[in-house]
Amino acid sequence: MKVLIINCGSSSLKYQLIDSDSEQVLAKGLCERIGIDGRLVYQKAGLDKEISDLAMPTHKEAIQFVLNALTNEKTGAIKDLKEIEAVGHRVVHGGEKFACSVVINDEVIDMVKECSDLAPLHNPANLIGINVCAELMPGVPNVGVFDTAFHQTMPKKAYIYGLPYEYYEKYGIRRYGFHGTSHSFVSKEMAAFLGLDLNNSKEIICHLGNGASISAVLNGKCVDTSMGLTPLEGLVMGTRSGSLDPAILEYIGKKEGLDAEGVLNVLNKKSGVFGISGGLSSDFRDLGEAAEKGNELAELALEVFAYTVAKYIGSYAAAMNGVDAIAFTAGIGENDPVTRKRIVSYLGYLGITLDEEANSKRGDNIVISTSDSKVKVCVVPTNEELAICRDTVALISGN
Ligand code: ADP
Repeated sequence: MKVLIINCGSSSLKYQLIDSDSEQVLAKGLCERIGIDGRLVYQKAGLDKEISDLAMPTHKEAIQFVLNALTNEKTGAIKDLKEIEAVGHRVVHGGEKFACSVVINDEVIDMVKECSDLAPLHNPANLIGINVCAELMPGVPNVGVFDTAFHQTMPKKAYIYGLPYEYYEKYGIRRYGFHGTSHSFVSKEMAAFLGLDLNNSKEIICHLGNGASISAVLNGKCVDTSMGLTPLEGLVMGTRSGSLDPAILEYIGKKEGLDAEGVLNVLNKKSGVFGISGGLSSDFRDLGEAAEKGNELAELALEVFAYTVAKYIGSYAAAMNGVDAIAFTAGIGENDPVTRKRIVSYLGYLGITLDEEANSKRGDNIVISTSDSKVKVCVVPTNEELAICRDTVALISGN
């Protein structure tokens, strides 16, 4: 079955066409600068990228250009749009309404709208993608896969903040967590690859990208995660501060003459390793290079990051009363052996030793701890699109 995966942002859209039988990507790309001018990047498997500047006043034109590219006579991946049997959409916030993926109908659309308050930049864009696909491909089922769904199994003690309880009841203020599709995918992949019984396992998943989060997965179910009501909580990230003393907000506001929105902008866009490094970069490649050349703030930023990750790993080992396996995934987790080494250097008390040679290798699923290590440490590439594809096929085939 051919499944189109759509991930709509406010001014961009990523897509992949996947053959669910072979799990191969047939074509992929993105639309950028929607509502500004418009650019389509399209790549059929095995061919070079094609980049075209095309007017995209709205997401509708963008998706139409994607469908045109997919069916283009010369470089299209399919002959006819009818070959697309389902569309899987990434939806950022499902609130408490969605604990799993769902086939989208009017009721689901209303429920996603109700969650828009919690993700005002993302959910409305996701809904536009859903509506446009329904319009341009009538009769083709759309499935919603939520970033928050995997974390809905957290016990109350893990998701309730130390705030007046009525704020949870009245406003839904609680920990939701994000990157759920990735945490779910990687926890299953790692269990399968290590031969662990998922239903009797303790895993810690470190999704370390520009946005970064960690989750504790007990017997295949999430019991805690580092992001909160929004993706700002938890780890120090590329440009996000992660957790800090909440009183800092007012203090920065007063000192810098900023309102709440201004302070949040600093916390979201100017903080994290970017902020600590004095604005040098949010990219770990740049920071690694600078640290090697003796830049002290770059070195500090990288160490703060690793230390924070290690502290979360420790707290989740406590939450689960142990840990069998730890996975590193996403941009940094998959590609940065130096950062992995920094993190693992804090984990000796868990009986973990790093296999330096394995850690320097690239590849698919690999174990980077030594064979006598008490806890297995792995690199497990994430694949959110494939996870969305699998959920979509399972739902529309009634599995
Ligand atoms: P997001 O999806 O949150 O944008 P990604 O998972 O794509 O993030 O991760 C992007 C980040 O991964 C980059 O900002 C960079 O810090 C890091 N990264 C990517 N490749 C490498 C590499 N080879 N070495 C070190 N860091 C890398």
